[in-house]
Amino acid sequence: MSGLLDGKLALVTGAGRGIGFATALAFARNGARVLLNGRSVERAAEAAKLICETVPGADVRPLVFDVTDSGAVKLAFSEVHKEYQGLDILVNNAGVLKDALVGMASEQMFQEVMGVNLSGTFKCAQFAARLMARAGSGSIINISSIVGRYGNAGQSVYAASKAGVIGLTLSLAKELAPANVRVNAIAPGFIETDMIASVPEEKRRAIIDGIKMGKMGTAEDVANAAIFLGSELSSYVTGQVLGVDGGMTI
Ligand code: NAD
Repeated sequence: MSGLLDGKLALVTGAGRGIGFATALAFARNGARVLLNGRSVERAAEAAKLICETVPGADVRPLVFDVTDSGAVKLAFSEVHKEYQGLDILVNNAGVLKDALVGMASEQMFQEVMGVNLSGTFKCAQFAARLMARAGSGSIINISSIVGRYGNAGQSVYAASKAGVIGLTLSLAKELAPANVRVNAIAPGFIETDMIASVPEEKRRAIIDGIKMGKMGTAEDVANAAIFLGSELSSYVTGQVLGVDGGMTI
């Protein structure tokens, strides 16, 4: 097998479906060894098996933990350290979407969205940064969102969590650049996955009308950007927020 990520070890969080799964698959196709994170043992094992069946010779293993559980995150990274002595790429993809007008947003919703999207991303980045800085190389890719840059009515909580991810990315990029660890974010636009399955048809049409390329993106479109940021193709790229949005913002 030969590809842009040959020999690299990558961890993709929330990789049981959607953008995370597409990224794990694309990474495996490009020669990476992939640790596929999910919360459910069955789903993670099933996703890893599917990739191994699709990509002959792929080395994809489930790594089950909940990104909101500090103890579990710590344990998972210490297992990675013990087993592999390092990590080349972390894709902080696990996320939840909860929409509400600001007057209706509950404290519980705020905690849940921040817990997964921002705290979870921070925790995984923190442990990965230690492994990568020690090795003197690595790439951390945080999945933000277009609404983290531009906001959206009815999405103040989600947007705040994703804007936080951008602030985290920029700060870590500055902090870790001297150790040759790159940190970038991807800001997807409107991507066809289960996450947006409940968006009503009329609203969907209206959003697509605002996309200059006139169509939704695919999980593979985002995965391709992650390949770029994880590979040596982007070896001099850090502290960037790469929009993958079909021209929603131009
Ligand atoms: P998805 O709902 O299909 O996938 C999210 C994944 O995260 C699921 O596998 C889920 O099980 C996992 N997850 C959730 N909470 C977790 C936790 N506590 N620990 C571990 N895993 C957890 O959605 P998606 O569209 O594939 O989204 C992937 C990422 O892209 C998210 O961060 C999302 O916010 C972001 N994003 C998506 C879109 C879009 O239009 N789909 C747009 C912008 C950003």
